[in-house]
Amino acid sequence: MRKKVIAGNWKMNKTPSETAAFITELSDKVKQTKDIVICAVPFVCIPAALKASKRTKIKIAAQNMHYEDKGAFTGEVSAKMLVDLGVQYVIIGHSERRQYYNETDATVNRKVLKAIKAGLKPIICVGESLEQRETGVTADFVRYQVGYALNGVSSEDMKNIVIAYEPIWAIGTGKTATNEQANEVCRTIRQALNEKYGRKVANATYIQYGGSVNVKNAAELFSMSDIDGGLVGGASLKSDDFCKIVNYKG
Ligand code: PEP
Repeated sequence: MRKKVIAGNWKMNKTPSETAAFITELSDKVKQTKDIVICAVPFVCIPAALKASKRTKIKIAAQNMHYEDKGAFTGEVSAKMLVDLGVQYVIIGHSERRQYYNETDATVNRKVLKAIKAGLKPIICVGESLEQRETGVTADFVRYQVGYALNGVSSEDMKNIVIAYEPIWAIGTGKTATNEQANEVCRTIRQALNEKYGRKVANATYIQYGGSVNVKNAAELFSMSDIDGGLVGGASLKSDDFCKIVNYKG
């Protein structure tokens, strides 16, 4: 049985001084969970988040990283820097980064390989646009994205990978994919992993759904056969809501 991985993506919200109080409050509310709880916080909030989450259930993720080790890349942060701080997870290829910062499947793959090499666990985001869904290419497109992102990733490395299926049309829009739509694409991803790595790896890999997950829909989405938790944006910013999502079993 796979655990659930429930990750909050704060995006560009909360200051370092708001971070400690939030994580402390949240950690108290989620201490009974057997699942994996992650907060993906802005770079500048990472030290405060790590300090407040010490000896709690909460793990800390970055929301991005660069694929080079170091050098003249003004404004960027390397995998090594994150590991040095004590970060365990990193979101790679979020659709907002693909849309606003020219992230491509090729840069996503480079970042994934670098993250693994550095000892970080990537949460790789994939997902189709509304137009792609309406033209019926969702399965092919998502398979392509997953295959590209995992190019050069070994079976052994797969134990450190989380894949987040996030249909772009459902992110921050209040439109959630139906349980069946979300599960179908997560199952397609698992099939693609099965073809590439075999059943054992496919069955062990965490595949999240993300896109307007909230207190009302989390339990149903997370009960689907191929959905192993969620990547949660807006609803992860209120500790009451996020803790209800983490404690979705009621
Ligand atoms: C996200 O940021 O990955 C996300 C899914 O956002 P929201 O839950 O707000 O749709």
